[in-house]
Amino acid sequence: MQQTTSSPVHLGLPVEAPVPVEGCGVCAALVRQREQAREEFDYSAVTDADVELRNHPHGRRS
Ligand SMILES: [Zn+2]
Repeated sequence: MQQTTSSPVHLGLPVEAPVPVEGCGVCAALVRQREQAREEFDYSAVTDADVELRNHPHGRRS
């Protein structure tokens, strides 16, 4: 089943975490990096990973 998720649920988190694109190796790596940074309480690295996740380019399917 597919759901339209145009309005994400807010749980009081200060930052909206970017959603990784399925099948994107960069996204997957950045998500791992972010999780690891979070475990190490390295929040600037968490933010860096978020920014990269949001900004790195994805190839167009055409
Ligand atoms: Zn990606």
